[in-house]
Amino acid sequence: MKLIPQEIKVGPYVYPVIQRKHFAAGDAKFGKQSLWDEEILIDADLKETGQWHTLLHECVHAMQDCFHCFAEASDDEKVDQIAIALFLFLQDNHFLDE
Ligand SMILES: [Zn+2]
Repeated sequence: MKLIPQEIKVGPYVYPVIQRKHFAAGDAKFGKQSLWDEEILIDADLKETGQWHTLLHECVHAMQDCFHCFAEASDDEKVDQIAIALFLFLQDNHFLDE
C-alpha cells in the first residue's frame, strides 16, 4: 500500500499530514483536520488501512469546509460512509498500490 502523503491539497488549501503516535489515546477519534490550522492529524498507531481510512475521512471534512458539500458537518456517519466509499474506490482501482 502507498505511503500516507505528507501533504494534501483541498481547494486552495495545502494541509500537511501529521502522523502522531498515541493521537487517539483511548478516544475514538483517530484523526482531526482544521481549516484554521491547515493541518490534518492522524493516529500513527493505526495500521495502514486505518490510516488511509482516517486520512480520507479527514479529507472529506476538509472538502466540506472548503466546498460546503457532501453532508452536514455534524453528520460524521455520512462523512465516514463517503470516506469508506472513496477508500474502496482507490484501493479497488489500484491507486493505493506501491
Ligand atoms: Zn469526522
